[in-house]
Amino acid sequence: GHIWEELMRRVVAAALLTVFAGGTAHADVTEADLANDAENTESVLTNGMGRHLQRYSPLDKINKNNVKNLVPAWAFSLGGEKQKGQETQPIVDDGVMYITGSYSRLYAVDAKTGKEIWQYDARLPEGILPCCDVVNRGAAIFGDKIYFGTLDAKIVALDKKTGDVVWSKKIANFKDGYSYTAAPLIVDGLVITGNSGGEFGILGEVQARDAETGELVWTRPMIEGHMGTYKGKESSMTGKVNATWPGDLWKTGGGAPWLGGSYDKETDTIVFGAGNPAPWNSWLRGAGNPKGTEGDNLYAASRVAMDPKTGEIKWHFQTTPREGWDFDGVNEVVAYTDRDGNKRWATADRNGFFYVLNREDGKFVSATPFVKNISWASGIDENGRPKFIEDNRPGDPSKAADGKKGEVIFAVPSFLGGKNWQPMSFSKKTGNFYVPSNEWGMDIWNEPVTYKKGAAYLGSGFTIKPIFEDYIGSLKAIDPDTGDIKWEYKNGAPLWAGVMSTAGGLVFTGTPEGEFIAFDDETGEKLWSFQTGSGIVGQPITWEQDGEQYVTVISGWGGAVPLWGGEVAKKVEYLNQGGTLWTFRVPKELASAN
Ligand code: CA
Repeated sequence: GHIWEELMRRVVAAALLTVFAGGTAHADVTEADLANDAENTESVLTNGMGRHLQRYSPLDKINKNNVKNLVPAWAFSLGGEKQKGQETQPIVDDGVMYITGSYSRLYAVDAKTGKEIWQYDARLPEGILPCCDVVNRGAAIFGDKIYFGTLDAKIVALDKKTGDVVWSKKIANFKDGYSYTAAPLIVDGLVITGNSGGEFGILGEVQARDAETGELVWTRPMIEGHMGTYKGKESSMTGKVNATWPGDLWKTGGGAPWLGGSYDKETDTIVFGAGNPAPWNSWLRGAGNPKGTEGDNLYAASRVAMDPKTGEIKWHFQTTPREGWDFDGVNEVVAYTDRDGNKRWATADRNGFFYVLNREDGKFVSATPFVKNISWASGIDENGRPKFIEDNRPGDPSKAADGKKGEVIFAVPSFLGGKNWQPMSFSKKTGNFYVPSNEWGMDIWNEPVTYKKGAAYLGSGFTIKPIFEDYIGSLKAIDPDTGDIKWEYKNGAPLWAGVMSTAGGLVFTGTPEGEFIAFDDETGEKLWSFQTGSGIVGQPITWEQDGEQYVTVISGWGGAVPLWGGEVAKKVEYLNQGGTLWTFRVPKELASAN
């Protein structure tokens, strides 16, 4: 009896030790886990469902045959009086879902039941200056911590079990116009962030911090003439002073890398996009009347490839040199392998062209228009440079009779872009990209402006207008080898939600009208939809738990369109705000039904 009791005591003690030490539950997330994220279907650990940002899942339990049986498993309300745009991509780790919400909130919920585990609300100061709604696009996870950025331009590390703050660091001073909304990128133990504030004449910069301590490891400014740093010392200059900028304009040159980055392990390269050069009035930057390369304004409106360990620039590709329409170069760059086995990057730019670049060195491969009626360029030449239509640049205000308002032009796309931040998906199954695009234009003109810290720095006025009667939003299946559009789904309101494709032959996205939709990846046929009660501007994910596949998306209308959309904003004024996280599944008894 005595020996048996002693044995039992030891077994119980060992079991308790496992529970209290964390055991296998809440295991630390490793670099290997992040590297394997696109293949591991039991978790979603990175923005983009893998750092190539393909947003493709190998899961096919939910497929073309049974998607009609998809029903809600649970819904979770973000609560609060303040709602606004919900743009998060959820993270799923060890049965816990982490989402960010408007006004810099982060929630941990049980992924199976939707029950809240903890909530963290950042205390935001008065006077924050987010340009385009109080959104957040998602968290990052590594080790025992979860990371996210706040609207007052901080990056915060929380204990993933408790939500307690482990460290909090300032990316930049929010009073000068900086903010932060993107999902951080984690590579080899570094938390890598950009910054927002391109409409305030800030300096765009990518920063890398030790994920454990928050200590700054390197910085890389996105505008030529500014010094990078490595471990507290100057490293190298970005570009060369006045190579592509006249006078002192580079000092407040913008180029905010406000939308996260991608990472390719094979080439050990991170790619961030840099936003518009500041101010919007391109005549002040030499772009309206360039001298040689002066007026290109590097590295604004460019994709910039860096060494993740040092922040040294490996290559760059400028989508819109001489930028004058707010065509930020920030849109996500997706790493993929084409049908012939070539390793590529692809990006669908604000400027309306879909670019393919070589993975190794960023060399230009091809560019094709993905929206209609592009007015500012007639195409892209063999070097990847736009063939400008000079008459479609807003007129020089200094040439106007009153010296105040330059000639008004109508430009397509609008400054909110042929595609904005809302991420596309690459399907490994079909080899096509699924691009959430918008067909719209704008009246735009230039005005004089001088830089004032913390004030809008545009020198431009504008009104966005629809170009077609019946739709603005356009989800397109694009063949990256040819640029051919295989199918298109037209939507009344502008599309502002992420897209996901799956091995089940499905393409998921949501609309501002509130519908969460599954399309046939080959035909574009709408196979299923669900009304979520508010507009969808979030990013869908899928994963499996206990043998069942789940699909999640957040609903909550907002973002840049209601604030900046001009005539389009008026058209969508009727849409209701919200803040609900929806999770769906096909009940087991219906999963095999046809
Ligand atoms: Ca911008």
